[in-house]
Amino acid sequence: MAWFKREPVEQLDVSGEKRVKTEGLWVKCDQCRQIIWKKDLDQNLNVCPKCDRHFRIDARTRLAQLLDDGQYQTEDGDIVSTDPLKFTDLKPYAERLKRSRRDTGLNDAVINARGKLEGRPVIASVMEYSFIGGSMGAVVGEMITRAVEKATAGKLPLIVVSASGGARMMEGVVSLMQLAKVSAALSRMDDAKVPFISVITDPTTGGTTASFAMLGDLNIAEPGALIGFAGPRVIEQTIRQKLPEGFQRSEFLLKHGMLDAVVHRRDLKPYIARALDFMQVPAQ
Ligand SMILES: [Zn+2]
Repeated sequence: MAWFKREPVEQLDVSGEKRVKTEGLWVKCDQCRQIIWKKDLDQNLNVCPKCDRHFRIDARTRLAQLLDDGQYQTEDGDIVSTDPLKFTDLKPYAERLKRSRRDTGLNDAVINARGKLEGRPVIASVMEYSFIGGSMGAVVGEMITRAVEKATAGKLPLIVVSASGGARMMEGVVSLMQLAKVSAALSRMDDAKVPFISVITDPTTGGTTASFAMLGDLNIAEPGALIGFAGPRVIEQTIRQKLPEGFQRSEFLLKHGMLDAVVHRRDLKPYIARALDFMQVPAQ
């Protein structure tokens, strides 16, 4: 006979009802360190209500903010990378592609869309930073080129919203070639006198800055965005000088003539509409 008898323990109730779900309801602003209610942040276009820090947003949210009634048709979304170099670093590039496709529901780091901006039909290409750092490989290059060509052929203004770490090194020289390809298409668009507005958001660096992001008829950026070519550490080591405060941020670039304007997210749509008016693109 046992000395002790274990009473049956009542199982802890872990079914959903009794638990309070708090994760994801609050966000900490990394600029002012305040805790913000996620809903407040969403309602404020993902800009911190306390310090105006512009949080990164995904491509779909951006399109919904920019285009009338959040309505648009996507195009060219069926192009996929062939992994031309069969590249492997920490893991195979093919794996990274697969994972990013699953996480974002996109085939690559950009969405091409057609919609209206305050009544004006426009073509928009919006980059998705969460897809391998918004890097530009053959697919991104091809999609942006197609957007440029469609805008040129249809005489529709083009708006490209950049958020990118630069060229996609897993595609080596194939990705570098995209700089030339997109730039050439933009040059033809310029000859055809079709307006191109480049909206540069946090972060935009490397080959993206070195090509289409800086080739707009108007280059505008969101406040506080990191915009540059090489990273600050590389530059400091090369020139052996300490870089000034705020280097490679929108406001610094505006002050030094690299940008035409720094525009708050809430003003972005009316600002672009006004610019298109000025460029004589009428509302329809
Ligand atoms: Zn803040």
